[in-house]
Amino acid sequence: TKWVYTFGDGTAEGSAQDRNLLGGKGANLAEMSNLGLPVPPGMTISTEVCSWFYKNDRAYPDELSEQVNSALAHVGKLTGRTFGDAERPLLLSVRSGARASMPGMMDTVLNLGLNDQSVQAMARDAGDERFAYDSYRRFIQMYADVVMGLDHEVFEDILEDEKARFGHELDTDLSAEEWKTVIARYKQTIEEELEQPFPQDPVEQLWGAISAVFSSWMTARAVTYRQLHDIPSDWGTAVNVQAMVFGNLGDTSATGVAFTRNPSTGANELYGEFLVNAQGEDVVAGIRTPQSLTEQARLEAGSDRPSLEKLMPDAFEEFRAICDRLEKHYCDMQDLEFTVERGKLWMLQTRAGKRTAKAALKIAVELADDGVITTQEAIRRIDPASLDQLLHPTIDPRAVRDVIGSGLPASPGAATGEIVFTSEEAVAKAEAGHKVILVRVETSPEDIHGMHAAEGILTTRGGMTSHAAVVARGMGTPCVSGAGSLRVDMRTETLLTVSGPLKKGDVITVDGSTGQVLKGTVAMLQPELSGDFGRIMEWADTARRMKVRTNAETPADARAARSFGAEGIGLCRTEHMFFEGDRIVAMREMILADTEDGRRSALAKLLPMQRSDFTELFEIMKGTPVTIRLLDPPLHEFLPKSDEEIDEVAAAMGVPADQLRERTEALHEFNPMLGHRGCRLAISYPEIAEMQARAIFEAAIQAGEDTGEHVVPEIMVPLVSLREELRFVKGRIDAVAGEVMQEAGQKIDYLVGTMIELPRAAIRAHRIAEEAEFFSFGTNDLTQTTFGISRDDAAAFLGTYQKKGIIEQDPFISLDLDGVGELIAIASNKGREARPEIKLGICGEHGGDPLSIHFCEKIGLDYVSCSPFRVPIARLAAAQAAL
Ligand code: ADP
Ligand code: MG
Ligand code: MG
Repeated sequence: TKWVYTFGDGTAEGSAQDRNLLGGKGANLAEMSNLGLPVPPGMTISTEVCSWFYKNDRAYPDELSEQVNSALAHVGKLTGRTFGDAERPLLLSVRSGARASMPGMMDTVLNLGLNDQSVQAMARDAGDERFAYDSYRRFIQMYADVVMGLDHEVFEDILEDEKARFGHELDTDLSAEEWKTVIARYKQTIEEELEQPFPQDPVEQLWGAISAVFSSWMTARAVTYRQLHDIPSDWGTAVNVQAMVFGNLGDTSATGVAFTRNPSTGANELYGEFLVNAQGEDVVAGIRTPQSLTEQARLEAGSDRPSLEKLMPDAFEEFRAICDRLEKHYCDMQDLEFTVERGKLWMLQTRAGKRTAKAALKIAVELADDGVITTQEAIRRIDPASLDQLLHPTIDPRAVRDVIGSGLPASPGAATGEIVFTSEEAVAKAEAGHKVILVRVETSPEDIHGMHAAEGILTTRGGMTSHAAVVARGMGTPCVSGAGSLRVDMRTETLLTVSGPLKKGDVITVDGSTGQVLKGTVAMLQPELSGDFGRIMEWADTARRMKVRTNAETPADARAARSFGAEGIGLCRTEHMFFEGDRIVAMREMILADTEDGRRSALAKLLPMQRSDFTELFEIMKGTPVTIRLLDPPLHEFLPKSDEEIDEVAAAMGVPADQLRERTEALHEFNPMLGHRGCRLAISYPEIAEMQARAIFEAAIQAGEDTGEHVVPEIMVPLVSLREELRFVKGRIDAVAGEVMQEAGQKIDYLVGTMIELPRAAIRAHRIAEEAEFFSFGTNDLTQTTFGISRDDAAAFLGTYQKKGIIEQDPFISLDLDGVGELIAIASNKGREARPEIKLGICGEHGGDPLSIHFCEKIGLDYVSCSPFRVPIARLAAAQAAL
């Protein structure tokens, strides 16, 4: 079997195609070598050796050492040196390299092969003693750290100590003699701490390093990382053994890293840093401040230290040409490592560069414009979830942050405003033109209007799926939840923080992208929706099949969603409309009435308000489909809860408090989620559904007249499990439609459909489809009812489930494809069987989750509907799913 693959001198035994066998680093070293680029020769010990190693109790295949030796001989021939030789020693770097780059793997060991003898030869050979001993101390330090497991801090302490003693500031100031002293102390420390000497035999050093790489595949950190990123453990890592080139060979030598484009802005400019007279790790380790690669970057940084362009023009020009070539070759922005040894350039690594969401867009668009990649490929290159970062104002990365507390990054974006502690105050202050941050222990449905009025939300309790978090994400309002180090004292209206109390009206900033809470105002960057973002969205819109709608009930949400490209409303929840202003009064009056007549007269007060709500929504949505769900929650939710509130409300309504209390008690349910709600309400009190239907139809006529658009409302009946339920409610809706058409003397087109959110409905979908003209999968409730898990109580154990590996993902965030997904697939098929033209959509939180969207495409849904701020994510994910 072939276990070892060589590269160097313009050829290689592998190529970029061999990522699985050679790991990312090895495959790209081979590729660069094949391209004729200056790569120090070396070998890659394949990932198959790693698998063999673990299958055979950490042993190696018999042929391995022979193959390594002959590869070493080959490298020796190319370099004119011999590994282990005392006169012209070949020194090596030993580097790990898995298929996907992976933190937790062994760090690189440089200068391997040096010992007390060969260091002298190196010094003679290079004519530079300082260089040789600098390399030797680096080697001892790295090897002892990564192979022998001695913490590098002990070495840093020794070095600091000696530098102080010799009166030096920089490592580069130490003379050869001084390095010798340091080296002696290093070796002595190793003997003392590990009770064994530092190995002098190069062969022992090499196999020690190779074993350390393979062993690092199973360290706790690497194992955890693989679990988190779904990387199978049998992939294994490769080991790259490569001839050293020296960036620490005096002032004509250097080492650096570069990106072919700016990784934070995406600008098409060479971007990077280097250090003169240094080796690999120094640049990232921050021992010295690195210098800019290009003159332009140097000028922009206002630095007086020369750029590589100025300092080593020949090496720089060669490097710049290689960057261009590699970017074209890989059709993507590259992240590169290089070293200059006495004026000669060497390439040490290339890979696709990590980038911000903003840079990813810019780079994809420019590469597509230049014809390097197709627009489809450009669409594929963008991570839909990353778009979220771009849709909200963010804190300027250059701003100073005065952090006074932190919690969970519950809803992205940053917002500044005055502290308010109640929703009423939030509304009042916002109406008076102030920007406010609503600060609560936690929020509840009564806070909706306050949450809408606020720029940002801060809670001191609750997780990522708490009420505040879910609602804030839906509204696109920045939110930090569960900031446990802060305390709200409602009595004194203060927010207690470690750096002192804050009063109502004090200004704070919440950063929902990091979870930080900051004092005062902070400089912000505004989102940019045109430009590159707009181009990618345009391409995505051409590529996708599914429509993207939004879940919205307020005009502000609907407008935001339109600006993000929503093609209709998939879910308008009408209950939120009943909390606003004095509507809640009429609503409570309706609930308190004991006769149908009493209810009808209270409903008559709500009718014009509902009608104007819907008219406005239809007008904003300009003839695109709007799905309106009839009242869904149990009536109990609209009534006051505490005795205090009951007294207050009773007084305001002019009814005896006891009557209100009795009604509240009568409506109490043990499990409201499974109680008197959804279509069950419409069956008990058809007049409520009738009022809503009338408001919808009258609004459709009105909006049609105002805008000239043909408005086709879609009325959705919630929580249906039986065909008979839907037939009953639909009968009432149709009757109202008939009345309104008669009154208006015109025809109204409309659809009546249902939400599929109960398992029985999914299984009996063919029967329900006899009545329903559309299905909308309400996957929040469908997930609750399929699992029998209440979302509000799930936090207590779902986290544990994930930690213990019982489930991989929170089914409320990413659709449970095997269970809930299967029900959706069944219902879709049965629905189409009974009614081939049936419209199918999804309207749960999952409608904005890329993985769930892929599933929706696969089973052929007509549209997904999600919260306004997820609309662009859904547009892109739907395009990717269709490609
Ligand atoms: P990482 O995956 O952490 O980037 P690498 O294996 O790329 O680790 O090595 C880290 C650094 O070591 C590189 O930036 C490079 O400067 C240096 N290095 C690696 N191989 C060599 C070599 N053959 N000669 C000189 N320096 C090297
Ligand atoms: Mg590297
Ligand atoms: Mg529901």
